[in-house]
Amino acid sequence: SEYIKAVEEANPKYNAIVHTTFEAALEHAEAADEMLKEGNADTLCGIPMVMKDNICTDGLLTTCCSNVLKGFKPYYDATVWEKLKEKGAVLLGKANMDEFAMGSTSESSCYGAPFNPRNTGHVTGGSSGGAAAAVTANMAAYALGSDTGGSVRQPAAYCGIVGLKPTYGSVSRYGLIAYGSSLDQIGPLTYSVKDAAIVFDAIKGFDRRDQTSKAFDYGNILDYLDRDIKGVKIGIAEEFFDGIDPDMKTQIFDAVKLFEKNGAEIVDIKLPALKSALPVYYIIACAEASSNLGRYDGIRYGHRTGSYDSIDDMIYKTRSEGFGAEVKRRIMLGTYVLSSGYYDAYYKKACVIREEIRREFDETYEKCDILIAPIAPTTAPVLNFKGLSSVEMYLSDICTVPINIAGIPSISVPCGIDKKGLPIGMQIMGKRFDDAKVLNMAYFYE
Ligand code: GLN
Repeated sequence: SEYIKAVEEANPKYNAIVHTTFEAALEHAEAADEMLKEGNADTLCGIPMVMKDNICTDGLLTTCCSNVLKGFKPYYDATVWEKLKEKGAVLLGKANMDEFAMGSTSESSCYGAPFNPRNTGHVTGGSSGGAAAAVTANMAAYALGSDTGGSVRQPAAYCGIVGLKPTYGSVSRYGLIAYGSSLDQIGPLTYSVKDAAIVFDAIKGFDRRDQTSKAFDYGNILDYLDRDIKGVKIGIAEEFFDGIDPDMKTQIFDAVKLFEKNGAEIVDIKLPALKSALPVYYIIACAEASSNLGRYDGIRYGHRTGSYDSIDDMIYKTRSEGFGAEVKRRIMLGTYVLSSGYYDAYYKKACVIREEIRREFDETYEKCDILIAPIAPTTAPVLNFKGLSSVEMYLSDICTVPINIAGIPSISVPCGIDKKGLPIGMQIMGKRFDDAKVLNMAYFYE
């Protein structure tokens, strides 16, 4: 009830939650009370949280903040929500996001942008912007977001909280509405690293309903958190710091020095393929999106146009009315790079370079245990920055997309504030399935 009150008070200010689920929340809370009485309560039992509006919840609105899915209520739960519900989680609502998770500011939401609780004149980041704002403004104890190219880590950084993108395959994508299936990964947004570890522990694990799910025995992540960091090799790749705000760079290097003072070793790394990461990401993500979004035809889901004279006309009008400008742009770009005559020149080439980027990361992790970098070139930009073209927005993803291409784990932890008083995020990346090491380093820093 306290949290419901907090949402009612703060949400009109931040536009973080687009569908509240208070009635369901009270039922979840009652179920949690039962678990407590029976004495089999998990750490997350009774803890109120929110989920990004692209994670399916049985009978509760899940719209990807798109007009094409307005009013859509799935008839099944995503695996992550199934797992959390079993542990007694309490769902307060679905969080605002960029339409279909495409964007870096959450401004493409059909419900309007959320506002950054640290400074409401600035964006929350995206695409899990509402999730970040809800946690930052104490409307939820934690949130689940999705990260295809930075969408958990970057809004966490812009809002000054923690965001974890786990190893690809470690958390089931079943019930996460697909954007770029080979890149998408669900992850927690929390106030502390320990909370991120607790939530990750609860949602990870093999799921036969997700064909890219991996069975990996992590053990209990919490046991790794306070391991000694002596002798840990930290890789610094200059390529990550190209064109980064100088103040941000200084503060991140101060953090690196702190690790060094406590026994970590610094290793210089070269990642030349990083310069291709952005075009590779936008070719692959858009190609997969153009295919994934083919299902919104007005027949099976959500919106259907009012009047039409043939089935083709119905599909054409439904999609024209339902999708926003950024989503349309990406469907067209994706269709283009997949069409005959262009497939080899763009899509196939991007897949080849993707392998090269993965190989470079693999080789890097033979020389060091973790990498440290910024999350984005700047802190949170101002809202309604109309001068920003799509391409300029894409450029701000430069530090986060390589991680999804490589499928490795990465966390964003707050690392100071800039001259405008906005939070700076530091990115800590590990090798595939070394999520525990990433959390261990972040916990030490925090
Ligand atoms: N900003 C990136 C994009 O627009 C990443 C989004 C995401 O991770 N979902 O594609």
